[in-house]
Amino acid sequence: MILNKIKSELREKEVTLVAVTKTRTIDAIMELYNSDHKIFGENRVQELVTKYEKMPKDIEWHLIGHLQKNKVKYIAPFVKMIHSVESIELAKTIDKFAAKNDRTIDVLIQLKIATEETKFGLQNEELDSLILDLKTLDNINIRGVMGMASFTDDTDQVRHEFKHLKSIFDKLKKEHFSQDDQFAEISMGMSGDYQIAVEEGSSMVRIGSLLFNG
Ligand SMILES: *Cc1c(COP(=O)(O)O)cnc(C)c1O
Repeated sequence: MILNKIKSELREKEVTLVAVTKTRTIDAIMELYNSDHKIFGENRVQELVTKYEKMPKDIEWHLIGHLQKNKVKYIAPFVKMIHSVESIELAKTIDKFAAKNDRTIDVLIQLKIATEETKFGLQNEELDSLILDLKTLDNINIRGVMGMASFTDDTDQVRHEFKHLKSIFDKLKKEHFSQDDQFAEISMGMSGDYQIAVEEGSSMVRIGSLLFNG
C-alpha cells in the first residue's frame, strides 16, 4: 500500500504525514484509518466538520486551507492544528473560540513562498510585528510555518521556494522562539513535491492525491 511506503520513507526523517482528505469519501478515508493512520487534513470548513462528525474521534484533524473568520467557530471545538494563519485578526478569532471551548489550538503561520500570485500567505515584511502580536494570545500555540511552492515542473524553482521557507523558519526560531521547543514545524510538501520538501527540511507534509490515486 502506498500509505505504508510513504510513511516508512518519512519515518526515517521524522516527518509527519498529514493525509489530505478533500473530496474523498468517508469509506476511502476509513481505509487509511484502518491502516492505522490518524492524522488528516481538510481545506474546507464544511467538509472538515462533516467528516469529524462521521468519523472516529481519535483522529487528529488539521485545517490546511484558507480560513474565514466567521467559520472559525465551527472547527474550534475539535481542530488540532490550523495551517493557514495569515493575519492577526484571524489569529485573534481562533484564540477567542479556542478559549470559549477551553482549548488551545496549534497554529502555523502561512507564508507566501510561491512566485505565483494565486496562493494565499503572508509577505515576509509583515512577519515580525505579527509574531509579537500572536505571542500575546494565550489560547493559540504557534507551532511553526506553512507554505506552498509554485505549481510547476521546474524542480529548481520549487526547491528554491522550499529553501526560502526553511530560511524564514530558521530566522524566526532564532529571533523569536529560541526558548520555545513547540515552535518546530515546517509544513511543506504535497504529492508532487514532498520529496524535495523533505530534502529541504520539511517536518510535515500534506499529501492527498498520491495516497488516494497512487
Ligand atoms: C489539496 C492540498 C494539499 C494536497 O495536495 P495533493 O497534491 O493532492 O497532495 C496540500 N495542501 C493544501 C493546502 C491543499 O489544499
